[in-house]
Amino acid sequence: MDTTPGWAGQALKGARPAVFWSDRPDAPAAAPTLNESVNADLTVIGGGFTGLWAAIQALEEQPGLKVVVLEAERCGFGASSRNGGFCDSSLTHGLENGLSHWPDDLKTLVRMGRENLDEIDETIDRHRIVADYQRAPGVDVATEPWHVDALEHSKDLHAEHGLDVELLDTDTMRARVNSATYVGGLLHKNDLALVDPGRLCWGLRQAAESLGATIFENTPATAVSVDGTKIDVTTPGGAVRSERVLMATNAYPGPVRRPRRYVIPVYDHVLMTEPLSSEQMSMIGWKQRDGIGDASNQFHYYRLTEDDRILWGGWDATYHFNNGLDPRHDQQDATHGVLAEHFFETFPQLEGLRFSHRWGGPIATTTQFTATWGTTHEGRLTWVAGYTGLGVAASRFGARVGLDLAFGTTTERTELEMVRKKPFPFPPEPLRWAGVQMTRKAIQTSDSHGGKRGLWLRLLDRFGVGFDS
Ligand SMILES: Cc1cc2nc3c(=O)[nH]c(=O)nc-3n(C[C@H](O)[C@H](O)[C@H](O)COP(=O)(O)OP(=O)(O)OC[C@H]3O[C@@H](n4cnc5c(N)ncnc54)[C@H](O)[C@@H]3O)c2cc1C
Repeated sequence: MDTTPGWAGQALKGARPAVFWSDRPDAPAAAPTLNESVNADLTVIGGGFTGLWAAIQALEEQPGLKVVVLEAERCGFGASSRNGGFCDSSLTHGLENGLSHWPDDLKTLVRMGRENLDEIDETIDRHRIVADYQRAPGVDVATEPWHVDALEHSKDLHAEHGLDVELLDTDTMRARVNSATYVGGLLHKNDLALVDPGRLCWGLRQAAESLGATIFENTPATAVSVDGTKIDVTTPGGAVRSERVLMATNAYPGPVRRPRRYVIPVYDHVLMTEPLSSEQMSMIGWKQRDGIGDASNQFHYYRLTEDDRILWGGWDATYHFNNGLDPRHDQQDATHGVLAEHFFETFPQLEGLRFSHRWGGPIATTTQFTATWGTTHEGRLTWVAGYTGLGVAASRFGARVGLDLAFGTTTERTELEMVRKKPFPFPPEPLRWAGVQMTRKAIQTSDSHGGKRGLWLRLLDRFGVGFDS
């Protein structure tokens, strides 16, 4: 029962507890369920962006390869169709995070991230995927004076790495998007695309199938075992025997335990408004249709859709004890209520606008906020997970590296320290839960104290670990 007061509470009444991007009548029919035993060259477990990009890239490079994708639910069931659709070139969860972990590789990582985004553009064109995909300016907005200092520093760092950015003063920022909460901004000119992630999943699934992949939906992988030179993946209706397996289940545990030390599921929540009228659009400006994030540690992200709705998400990232995953976590009245209140604080001129959808989903995070890779089962199974909140574009790179490792190919990518070295593992429960709660609290305190990092955050910084969404 939602008890959010005022306009925010009114606006939430009647919002469908469903993911806007996939809550559509034009969803494709389900792929078949595996009900026999089959052979393949490559088995992919998980049909989100990582799994689908793995199938596409493997088949574009090795036409004729026999690729089977096993998806427990429907392709895109996980984070891939629940996200904000910010397709950002960064492979390192932002430049600052990249600098703190991989200073020696950062130039290479920036180049690879930009190439990856260009190749996403090209693939979408080549396969004629209709997913409202377009390059868009990105803006980090400052809503507190201390954010302005942080953005100035960020501007210098981006410029040093050849990224095209521009500082916006209060008036310029407010003229761009009309919110009295803004005191400045940092415009990123060339490193973002916005996309409808649900339709991107459907388009990637179709592209993979057109290249020859066989996709089974409603087919969870339940066990994996090596038999001589082959690896078997068991599902309730049959097994797949292949040379190699790529496990791409991200926040979900999958049939192999190894990633669970390094990757935890964290829930992020989203609201979608009804379409804005032309009068409401003229009250907020937003003519360049920027993808926006605010510069707090605990941040909001927001954007317009094709039909002039506003997607508004972020703020409170929640971890549930023992890597808890449950569809009930998708709907959190308190979190959705706070998000709605923040929405109307940012855009009070939109009072009266209602939310049509509310949802949440699990982000997979590591202590360094980026993907990590590993191999098990005598090198026959490769896994990749952990993009945190920036996996829409990075999942293509994650899949590409996963294929390098699965096929035993040494490349510039596999030589990156980010790929070779694992992040610091999360401690076991109950320390894991306690550590995450302490860190969340410390982040909130930092935001309300001008960004000053207290003792706990400084200690974590020293060990190169943290918690983010
Ligand atoms: C609310 C939210 C907002 C986000 N916003 C953004 C954003 O704007 N920009 C951005 O870059 N990133 C964002 N992200 C992160 C991004 O969506 C993810 O990093 C990315 O989608 C990860 O893709 P994936 O394929 O690795 O994982 P998923 O999409 O989670 O796919 C994993 C798949 O594996 C399947 N699976 C699980 N277990 C099994 C099994 N045993 N057998 C077979 N299949 C299995 C699942 O059903 C699922 O479909 C957001 C995430 C969330 C939750």
